[in-house]
Amino acid sequence: MVNDVCYATLKYDQPWTLDNYYREGGYEALKRVLDGPMDRGEIIDEIKKATLRGRGGAGFSTGMKWGFMPRDAPGQKYLICNSDESEPGTCKDRHLLRFNPHALVEGMIISGYAMGATVGYNYLRGEFMKEPFERIEEAVREAREAGFLGENILGSGVDFEMHNLIGAGAYICGEETGLLESIEGKRGLPRNKPPFPAQYGIYGRPATVNNTETIASVPTVMRRGADWFLEQGRPNNGGTKLFCVSGHVNSPGVFEIPLGMPFKELLGMAGGVRDGRKLKAVIPGGTSMPALPGEEMMELDMDFDSLAKAKSGLGSGGLVVMDDTTDMVEVCLRISRFYYAESCGQCTPCREGTGWMHRVIKRIYQGKGSYDDIELLEAAAGQIAGHTICAFGEASAWPVQGILRHWRHEFEHYVEHGRSMVEAAA
Ligand code: SF4
Repeated sequence: MVNDVCYATLKYDQPWTLDNYYREGGYEALKRVLDGPMDRGEIIDEIKKATLRGRGGAGFSTGMKWGFMPRDAPGQKYLICNSDESEPGTCKDRHLLRFNPHALVEGMIISGYAMGATVGYNYLRGEFMKEPFERIEEAVREAREAGFLGENILGSGVDFEMHNLIGAGAYICGEETGLLESIEGKRGLPRNKPPFPAQYGIYGRPATVNNTETIASVPTVMRRGADWFLEQGRPNNGGTKLFCVSGHVNSPGVFEIPLGMPFKELLGMAGGVRDGRKLKAVIPGGTSMPALPGEEMMELDMDFDSLAKAKSGLGSGGLVVMDDTTDMVEVCLRISRFYYAESCGQCTPCREGTGWMHRVIKRIYQGKGSYDDIELLEAAAGQIAGHTICAFGEASAWPVQGILRHWRHEFEHYVEHGRSMVEAAA
């Protein structure tokens, strides 16, 4: 197991302090970058070479995203950290903010400098107002006191300031343009794109939004080099990644593993399936990613490309493990309820479609459904995905489509018999 990127400080009693971060090489990367200072394009090339992919869900190339910023254009530019971690099954950024907040602060300064941004906002979900917020606030204070934040950092001529903000608990504020609206003090309604944030971010100025874990991985890439980082994972999937394993396992938790590690090893680290039961299904990347059958998961590796090939996704790294007592229609019902409640309501397919899906699944679950309802559910999901302003449309439709793809027979059993086919759940 490699615990060198996000979990480097975890071995200490108080892993969040600046002193312990120093003991793990903290702020060395920043000093190296600012010595000169290093050319911005070179930093972006290093991040591209490391194949650091976005850890928030989409898995897009971080270096390429940074390249969209007009970094040498005059005027204010912003770096935004998305700590609005709200995807069900995911709690890794919370862990990072609590146990290694300086990795995020150092990553913000380096990333901001690489993109020509001198101000960074870290947007935390409302429920993080206690420990995660207090730890990152304290880390910012310590970093400022040590001369890593503010004007002319370490005499380099580089300026960067960082502010932590707290949201109010809406899932949709984790969508990057909804988040930008929220920072501006408006309702967190996702925007139509284009323009993209790199052209029109906040206050009409360019901004780049990156996930917490992505930014916290940057100092390690710059300190140990792109080649080292890439070697931790596999081609096109550089580095380690935090995975949150929950559900029917003996030892749930957040694990840092190299990308590409077989799922069965990760399951072993989480103590295996509870009570020695049979693995039935796994949601591999937060609830918006389609669930996969257990046998299929046991053959898969935990990296972006392997899971995409299996018609699912690595997403946010939130794994929900389900054993053979799980009723997949009930799982579908719960997930659909979440997306129905969290739709911002701006576009019709999402606003109406999430409600339709939820009501149809509920009808089937209550034993009042028909075969036509299964067809209707499939059609409704197909008419949401790809027809909405933001990716929430896909996030609500994919789990339903995934469960229908692999467990349609469970819906049919409800229609035929008015109850679950899963004995323990009946
Ligand atoms: Fe809002 Fe849903 Fe449309 Fe996204 S897809 S903008 S959440 S209504």
